[in-house]
Amino acid sequence: MWHALVLPLSEYRMAQTDIRDSLRERGVRLTRQRKILLDLIDTSGEHLDAEQLYQMAKKRDVKLNRVTVYRTLKMLKQGGLVDELDLMHYGGDQHYYETRLKQEHAHIICLRCGKVEEFFGEHIQKMRKQVEQNLGFQILLTRTEVGGYCSNCQILRAREVEQARGTELPARGRGRTSG
Ligand SMILES: [Zn+2]
Ligand SMILES: [Zn+2]
Repeated sequence: MWHALVLPLSEYRMAQTDIRDSLRERGVRLTRQRKILLDLIDTSGEHLDAEQLYQMAKKRDVKLNRVTVYRTLKMLKQGGLVDELDLMHYGGDQHYYETRLKQEHAHIICLRCGKVEEFFGEHIQKMRKQVEQNLGFQILLTRTEVGGYCSNCQILRAREVEQARGTELPARGRGRTSG
């Protein structure tokens, strides 16, 4: 039986072996398929969706099917081992998974090209402390997402605006001269 457990934030940075030990203590078995998915999420360092994870997992175990992947992801999420992100819904309804073993960080999402950057810093810990102190709130999880345009997309957008103006100008020019 897989118990839903919520790890305190301080435990998120536990080494993976510790996570496994603590799971074993709680009677949660890390089956081969769970382990494959957990390893993929852990080592990729990226934010993969269920389909991407399925394609990668299939290469390690041909018996893995989509249903198992979705069910396992749900279990890992409920078990507090992975985080499910929607990344500002850039990819529609897609959800992305990442390990909770990483240090807390914010996700910075480019709403034009979909690039995801991770931002590490003191800010999340500071905010958490303030929320706990000012609101007397016990925080179990924080998620910070920032949406905008990456430096490359800012250049491309400026070019697009320029081009759009370029195509508009003749029409405007005609309007003015004939006015
Ligand atoms: Zn971009
Ligand atoms: Zn991340």
